Amino acid sequence: MVIVGWVLWDRGERPVLEVTVRPRVGRRSRCGRCGRRAPGFDQGGGWRRWRHIDVGFAACELVAVAPRVDCPEHGPTVAAVPWARHDTAFSRAFEDLVVYDAIESNKTAAARRYGVSWRAVNSMCVRVADEALGRVDLLDGLEAIAIDEVKYKKGQRYLTVVCDHYTGRVIWAAKGRTKATVEAFFVALGPERAARLLFVSCDGAEWIHEPVGRLAPHALICLDPFHVVGWATKALDEVRRQEWNELRRRGGAKAATALKGLRFLLLRNWENLTLSQRGVIRDLERVNQRLLRAWQLKEELREVLALPFRSACAALDAWLAYASRSRLAPFVKLARTIRTYRTSLEATLEWRFSNAISESNNASIGRIRANARGFHDPEAFIKMIMLDRAGIKPQLPWTKAS
Ligand SMILES: [Zn+2]
Repeated sequence: MVIVGWVLWDRGERPVLEVTVRPRVGRRSRCGRCGRRAPGFDQGGGWRRWRHIDVGFAACELVAVAPRVDCPEHGPTVAAVPWARHDTAFSRAFEDLVVYDAIESNKTAAARRYGVSWRAVNSMCVRVADEALGRVDLLDGLEAIAIDEVKYKKGQRYLTVVCDHYTGRVIWAAKGRTKATVEAFFVALGPERAARLLFVSCDGAEWIHEPVGRLAPHALICLDPFHVVGWATKALDEVRRQEWNELRRRGGAKAATALKGLRFLLLRNWENLTLSQRGVIRDLERVNQRLLRAWQLKEELREVLALPFRSACAALDAWLAYASRSRLAPFVKLARTIRTYRTSLEATLEWRFSNAISESNNASIGRIRANARGFHDPEAFIKMIMLDRAGIKPQLPWTKAS
């Protein structure tokens, strides 16, 4: 960029530094859409302005002529300028700065701080994300991925989010949580790269398992232990509810009330309980043996999954046998489910893919969702997730590219 001249206007409420610029000779006459050289077409709309980063108290505007070129592919198009993206009234540096702030805080705060509309901030985010995503192929070189679902709005609205286990980055996200959503990911990936996948971790959901098994033929499906413990916790809660109903039916109102208050205690992990809370659990021995057995099964399963691979497999056999004979319907059923997913679960125990990635992604996605106060447009939500978690966040304009 060549600075031709500048003038400081002091009219209205805020001074404006107006800087007249032009592209360097070598950067002229390129299509604004594709950047390829193209013959000139006409002078376009004459002078154009771009809002640039403020200078002191003054707002700053770049001013330049914007001729059009005749691109073989795009036809008559405004020529590319090095200081701004195509079809925007803001300079590249200004957009990077605003988007950076929109990610760090939120779009409303960024809009207020820079005196632009929320809508303008939103379209900057989309523009910056699209440009960055067009530059890199996030789906290249994948070996181990995690497929997860993320809620974006109340009322069962979900996104499917795919992460790279090695880099921890989100590499793909789309609306919905169905087989079709997972299939769309594999279409984007292509059969060659899908064949190079070695590990896919997920929960036991059939909408993930079935297409992954079919479309990633060499991948080992790993079942997240975190989800398995979640299943056991759910089974325990079911036993508690059944016991409570049973007691109430037989007229033991007082005992029934005692069980109801136990819910929170039972669902917590043993190491997080206080001494007196542990006493309450021990008292179950007298109060309700079935419930104690259910609680023990949940805690034991947690221990089993934390063991080294060989011991975990042996301990899991013992656990499954015990659960099947427990005469607690929810645990008999859980044992059956775990047998179904046994191979996937053993793969996880062997390869130890932690769910730390999913957890940190979920935490940050939750933050993005909270900052937006509910996303109505899932596409806008996806763009923000990608900007924040895909490693394509813009640098501050004054950071030298490394
Ligand atoms: Zn073009």
